[in-house]
Amino acid sequence: MHVAYTKGLHELGDGLYAYLQPNGGWGWSNAGLVTAGGTSLLIDTLYDLRLTREMLDAMAPVTVDHPIDAAMNTHANPDHCFGNELLPRSAEIYSSQVTAEEMSELSPAGLYALKQAELPPHVRAFVQEAFGPFEVADVTVRLPSRTFMGRLDIGVGDRTVSLVELGPAHTGGDTIVHVPDAHVVYTGDLLFNQGTPIVWADYDNWIAACERILELGATVLVPGHGPVSDASGLRDLRRYLVYVRGEARKCFDGGINEAQAADEIDLSAFSDWGETERIAANVIAAYRAFDPLRPRKTRLELITAMADWHARH
Ligand SMILES: [Zn+2]
Repeated sequence: MHVAYTKGLHELGDGLYAYLQPNGGWGWSNAGLVTAGGTSLLIDTLYDLRLTREMLDAMAPVTVDHPIDAAMNTHANPDHCFGNELLPRSAEIYSSQVTAEEMSELSPAGLYALKQAELPPHVRAFVQEAFGPFEVADVTVRLPSRTFMGRLDIGVGDRTVSLVELGPAHTGGDTIVHVPDAHVVYTGDLLFNQGTPIVWADYDNWIAACERILELGATVLVPGHGPVSDASGLRDLRRYLVYVRGEARKCFDGGINEAQAADEIDLSAFSDWGETERIAANVIAAYRAFDPLRPRKTRLELITAMADWHARH
């Protein structure tokens, strides 16, 4: 199935929809809608209230007959949950338990403060580029009302939808939404399609998560970022993760530090993907896979590593 990569709501057939936000770079995430029997499940909200409102308006012609009775957050990055407060009060919001815990640590005020902070000029410029377009000062975090571990099957009208936790990978609690009768998977950020993935949590488990998704045999994958895809998009992402892991391992064994390794790894096979600077964070995550005793870097340290890489290239 080819779905145009244009901003807005796209019908996938069988009562399923994808809401897309090109170009899929930092913060420009996708969402999904599963409808059946006069009800619907929303998959993820967007980074801020303006964008989420715009999305809910675009969905209105569908949700007028299929009101959103439930929603789920695939993971706890702001671009997938900061719009939750705009959902109907009565809507159940699902997430994995780990995602709910990570969401409770999210602070719109902290993110706003980061954007205003005194930082080295190249870091400040990077923060503006990655997080600047989004209005987070007025966001109130609304946490999931129903959490689970592993897997939860829920009813949407007369169809059964499986929420399958595959994290830690991109974040601690990544969860996909599998709609078996339509052969569709909403992957959240376990798939960045035609863009560079970023490993915040667990490098090797993300590679394992790719296998788990491919085993489902879905014909359509709706990624967290980028155009609607099929298995080929996920195979490309897995190829990146496996390749970078192998190159990083050579550097690790050669005693080269993470920043030098990120400079040396040849990414020409992925040159048409955006957000190349994520290699800096990904090498740090790979080194932690090689040596789990390495201290975990803070979010700001990872952002700084990417900004440094960006400045050097
Ligand atoms: Zn995202």
